[in-house]
Amino acid sequence: MTRHYRYGVVMSTLSGRLRREHETFVCMARIYCGHHHVPAANGLCADCEALMQYAERRLEKCPYGADKPTCANCPVHCYKPAPREQAREIMRFAGPRMPLRHPLRALTHVFDKLRHAEHPMKLRRDRGRPSANGGR
Ligand code: SF4
Repeated sequence: MTRHYRYGVVMSTLSGRLRREHETFVCMARIYCGHHHVPAANGLCADCEALMQYAERRLEKCPYGADKPTCANCPVHCYKPAPREQAREIMRFAGPRMPLRHPLRALTHVFDKLRHAEHPMKLRRDRGRPSANGGR
């Protein structure tokens, strides 16, 4: 199935906050791709579109679900090194341009950045630890 990564016509499986985050990443990728590559009609070249599909798959499997931090602030960071670097480059370039191009999305992203999350391993360790009062 061909997916068209334009806002309003995005992926099929994500919903709620995960969908919104992915749409924001697509907007950023379109800004970046428009300046650095030769985008197709949907605003993304094949490489950038492949990255968007990769990001979608990562979001589908995100251990935090809708309570996730932003991927940039994530203690797990589930991306492989190459796509992670691609994502960083896109965010470095498109981040400062977002308030002009997509002010509402940029503002929402600022609030999302305030979310913090513990590493799932630490949460598991803390849950297994007896409380200070010995469980009384
Ligand atoms: S980087 Fe972190 S927040 Fe982003 S999808 Fe992966 S696990 Fe979830």
